[in-house]
Amino acid sequence: MTIVSSQSPASLWSVTARPGPPTSPLDGDRTVDVAVIGGGYAGLSTALHVVQAGKSVVVLEAVDIGYGGAGTNNGQVIPALTRANPEDLRQRFGEERGNRLARLIAGSAAFTFDLIRKHGIECDAQQTGWVQPAHSPGRAVLARRRYEQWAELGADVAYLDREQVGTLTGAVIYHGGLLARTGGHVNPLGLARGLAEASLRAGAEIFTKSPVLSVAPQGDGWRLQTPNGAVVAGKVVVATDAYADALFPALRRSIVPVRSYQMATQALAPEILSQVLPLNHALSDSHRDLYFFHATADHRIVTGGALALNFQWRSRLDRRIGERLRRVFPVLGDDIRFEYQWYGDVAITTNFLPHFHQVAPGIITVIGYNGRGLALAAAAGRVLAQAALGHDVNDLDLPLTPLATIPLQGLVRRFSRIELLRYRWLDRQEVRA
Ligand SMILES: Cc1cc2nc3c(=O)[nH]c(=O)nc-3n(C[C@H](O)[C@H](O)[C@H](O)COP(=O)(O)OP(=O)(O)OC[C@H]3O[C@@H](n4cnc5c(N)ncnc54)[C@H](O)[C@@H]3O)c2cc1C
Repeated sequence: MTIVSSQSPASLWSVTARPGPPTSPLDGDRTVDVAVIGGGYAGLSTALHVVQAGKSVVVLEAVDIGYGGAGTNNGQVIPALTRANPEDLRQRFGEERGNRLARLIAGSAAFTFDLIRKHGIECDAQQTGWVQPAHSPGRAVLARRRYEQWAELGADVAYLDREQVGTLTGAVIYHGGLLARTGGHVNPLGLARGLAEASLRAGAEIFTKSPVLSVAPQGDGWRLQTPNGAVVAGKVVVATDAYADALFPALRRSIVPVRSYQMATQALAPEILSQVLPLNHALSDSHRDLYFFHATADHRIVTGGALALNFQWRSRLDRRIGERLRRVFPVLGDDIRFEYQWYGDVAITTNFLPHFHQVAPGIITVIGYNGRGLALAAAAGRVLAQAALGHDVNDLDLPLTPLATIPLQGLVRRFSRIELLRYRWLDRQEVRA
């Protein structure tokens, strides 16, 4: 078993999230209705929705709850995709299927916060809104169009002009932007652990340090082999996203895993923090080389970024992201230090859309959230559960698409770093235009 990312240094979340429920490796054999591979949001939400429907379910996680994106991400609860708007989805999937997918996305943040409230998950959840400010006048025009499309669909969104975005965020570089009121932020590892607890309470079984090594047909279903035991299940849900390993090589080659670095400042004084995102919004802007920030329950700013090369990543990020923070929020001055730095892998698809596939009869997956998988993977879990419970896979909120590998994926993976340099250049051109 190969996990894509090398072991990340300890995240802020690993120190601040409530401990997860006790779990252990699978030992011996089990027969269940549904087996889930991967203990992130998608896998745990699938398990919760399957067991709530009265069926038996086992989650097999290679390392630990939230080992992947779920435990390492920035914590922004975002009801939108990175690029596509409802019109793009309608063009691609047709009027009815496009609108269904757009509504799933628009509703995903509210869905996630409702899940948190319903199951009493303690993860510093703040449904204070998500802002996507525009880094250039041209991007502000696009933000207005974006707003119109999501508003037409019934999403709780607003367009912010330059002054409003400044007042709302305390940031000084933006030209306008989109506000999604149902968004916000959470302690992401806390959410994963809370979902695990809720699933266990409802009757699911979760085994950690239990990598699935092979999946082979058995009877009408599948046999999933782990080092010390096996699960036989009628349906299998693969929820491994960027951490997809050699288990399904085609799945792994259908995405490009891209490393994203995360950082947390020291705790800031209240008089400073009251001027940085004063209403506690989550912010991720329109730069291709994304700027993203939000405050934590312990008064830090969590942010981060991407690097074209990994060498000396800590000191290079300190400089690059420190300078960025001071430019966006000058009130922070020179007194910023980063006390935590960590990383995780984001699954990127060639069309920047999440993909719903049937890997083999009875084996389904959603992969490729393109850095927008906190709320969406939780919501996708419900769709995956519906599929595992026997709903027609061709009539769900996520349109089923054929699994296609990326030609020369290994090379594309290497070149994705160079693509970052092009993104930065394009970002600068837009600001100058
Ligand atoms: C650094 C970073 C920052 C991000 N920031 C945000 C953000 O702010 N907002 C947002 O919306 N999204 C963000 N994302 C994306 C989001 O975290 C992911 O899309 C989301 O976690 C996907 O959830 P998942 O359950 O599908 O997969 P994951 O949470 O990645 O879980 C996959 C799990 O599968 C397990 N696994 C893999 N192979 C096997 C196997 N053979 N057997 C058993 N288990 C296996 C892995 O160990 C892992 O735990 C970010 C991602 C990263 C990495």
